[in-house]
Amino acid sequence: MFPIIIKDFKNIGKDVNGMTVGPFIFLNKGVEESTINHELIHYQQGIETLFIGLWIIYTYDYIKGIFEGKNSYDAYMSVRAEKEAYENENNLQYLSKRKRYEWIFANKKVNKKVNKKVNKKVNKKVNKKVNKKQIRRSKRLECKNKN
Ligand SMILES: [Zn+2]
Repeated sequence: MFPIIIKDFKNIGKDVNGMTVGPFIFLNKGVEESTINHELIHYQQGIETLFIGLWIIYTYDYIKGIFEGKNSYDAYMSVRAEKEAYENENNLQYLSKRKRYEWIFANKKVNKKVNKKVNKKVNKKVNKKVNKKQIRRSKRLECKNKN
């Protein structure tokens, strides 16, 4: 399935060069290759989620960002679909090497890594405390045995 590209708009919207809606890609006149690449990434995300899923994830991420106190630009940039598109729009080979569905779990991967680090630190602290307690207990036992 190929996208239906509609080119040469004068101005789709304020500060908008391209837009992907379902199977349609709308492009402003004279946009750069990276913008087309950006929209093609969104198109692939759409295929992976039957388009409606992309819309749901997109809206969820954006609203989540607003609730977290981000301004509309930062909320927009925190949308997983936009992260993938912006991070890779300048790599024109990206689409041929792209792993399907990876962008959906991108946030979770980062969280897992962070959680692992945090858990290690917490475990170290807990282990230290436990060890100290055990040492104290064994010392007490030693004293009791002496008596
Ligand atoms: Zn985008």
